[in-house]
Amino acid sequence: MDNSKLKDQVKAKFTDYLELNKHRKTPERYAVLDHIYSTRGHFEMDSLYNSMKQSSFRVSRATLYNTIELLLDCGLVVKHQFGANVSQYERAYGNENHDHLICLSCGEVKEHKNGNLFTPAQQKKLQRFKVSYYSMYIYGICSKCLRAKNAEEKKNKVIENKNTRIKKK
Ligand SMILES: [Zn+2]
Ligand SMILES: [Zn+2]
Repeated sequence: MDNSKLKDQVKAKFTDYLELNKHRKTPERYAVLDHIYSTRGHFEMDSLYNSMKQSSFRVSRATLYNTIELLLDCGLVVKHQFGANVSQYERAYGNENHDHLICLSCGEVKEHKNGNLFTPAQQKKLQRFKVSYYSMYIYGICSKCLRAKNAEEKKNKVIENKNTRIKKK
């Protein structure tokens, strides 16, 4: 889906939600929505606030938090809690299913497209539940940390060997 079409759709969804719940349709709220759907991937509240500050539209922290609550409530944004890190958010609409690979060592989060996880038989079991999207959290060690760990182990082994050699003398 091209991005302007997607933005029109989420705007319409947001308008429906705001009207239905008698929330005010302020330009600030739409600016936050537009900003989120202009960027890909995950974001934290601080990074969102800072990147919005640099754009033409300034919103207060209070407005930002308030708008995120509304966007979570109407399902246009999802919130993640990856391990002990601060909450991260991402757009929920028009976002392909994906898993999150979370490194336990450095905290880096990578996305992994997972296609359709459910076989037709599994889908049948879910018949009373309409799936909108799903996301798995996979915890482990990233390749960068693994390399560092292996290098560290090698170094320790070399030192160990040296020590045993010295003892033998
Ligand atoms: Zn790592
Ligand atoms: Zn994600």
